[in-house]
Amino acid sequence: MQLTDSIGRNINYLRLSVTDRCNMRCFYCMPKEGVSREEHGTILSYEELLLIAETAVGLGIEKIRITGGEPLVRAGIVGFLANLSAIPGLRHLALTTNGLLLAEMAADLFRAGVQRLNVSIDSLNPDTFRDITRGGDLSRVLAGLDAAEEAGFPPPKINAVIMRGVNDAELLDFAEMTRLRGNSVRFIEYMPVVKDEGWQRYCLSGEEILQRIAANYQLEPVDKGPFAGPSRDFRIAGARGSIGIITAVSGHFCSDCNRIRVTSTGQAKGCLFSDEKTDLLPCLRPPDQERLAEAVRRIVSTKPERHSITGNGYTHRNFTMSQIGG
Ligand code: SAM
Ligand code: SF4
Ligand code: SF4
Repeated sequence: MQLTDSIGRNINYLRLSVTDRCNMRCFYCMPKEGVSREEHGTILSYEELLLIAETAVGLGIEKIRITGGEPLVRAGIVGFLANLSAIPGLRHLALTTNGLLLAEMAADLFRAGVQRLNVSIDSLNPDTFRDITRGGDLSRVLAGLDAAEEAGFPPPKINAVIMRGVNDAELLDFAEMTRLRGNSVRFIEYMPVVKDEGWQRYCLSGEEILQRIAANYQLEPVDKGPFAGPSRDFRIAGARGSIGIITAVSGHFCSDCNRIRVTSTGQAKGCLFSDEKTDLLPCLRPPDQERLAEAVRRIVSTKPERHSITGNGYTHRNFTMSQIGG
């Protein structure tokens, strides 16, 4: 079974957020005070999230990425992941985390059937890391990377949001990480989702990131696998890890977009930047799998062709990344 949208894109990837809470407060993602009680809404139970996953896989979704907020802060997450990984037809289960709890949890996550980890690290300098995350401890996150490999995971992929004047001086340090540690690093363009005055000063295009690295290293293009995301990937000769650029703002990878999203409160979205959303709660309370399948099909068939953000004309949307899961 395949899910195809109105312009022929094969939709095989679901990003499922399990919480909007987080144990960090990255300034570009969340307000300092965190998510308020009113905004928090009704979080779906694990049974409800599992029903969404089973229904989506039944329709043609082959890959699920669990995200948040911070997924590892939700109680019972390991048991939920074990149930997810047992869904027949699900070929790929991945998790995105800030890594703060990974050292303690990596072995359990591996046993639960998670196949790949993405860890967000925006700076390799402990002070800059603490500033960006408003208090995060880089050493815990790096210990988490080691624990993941000891548990049996391939080297986690690193996501780094690059912001001019904040962490762009570290581009070459991240590039070195692909050689020294073997992690693949994906540089993400900063997206102005928190209503922050003067956000333009942080913007740095994927092209400039690439040029600055290419000025110091010989980069070879990398062939991507069947579940590759929207990054353009390169490798420094001899490095185990690759370097990827995600040009969410400046580039248009929408023509290859294969994903839909569901937030922890049951709001389904065909596009990260669209205001269109579908409330799945009426299909879940009480649970009605047929109605849910119909809703998922409709989200796919009405998926926008592309986003409407540009480098100089962005309208702030009514959500934060921690609510939608990136
Ligand atoms: N807490 C987990 C983490 O940080 O990996 C998972 C959720 S987080 C919302 C998912 C991804 O979204 C992270 O890699 C984060 O850097 C990215 N993200 C959040 N806000 C962003 C923004 N304004 N621009 C670009 N990426 C953003
Ligand atoms: Fe939390 Fe991830 Fe957002 Fe940072 S990016 S505040 S770790 S949800
Ligand atoms: Fe897909 Fe929307 Fe992102 Fe484009 S902006 S790649 S359509 S989710």
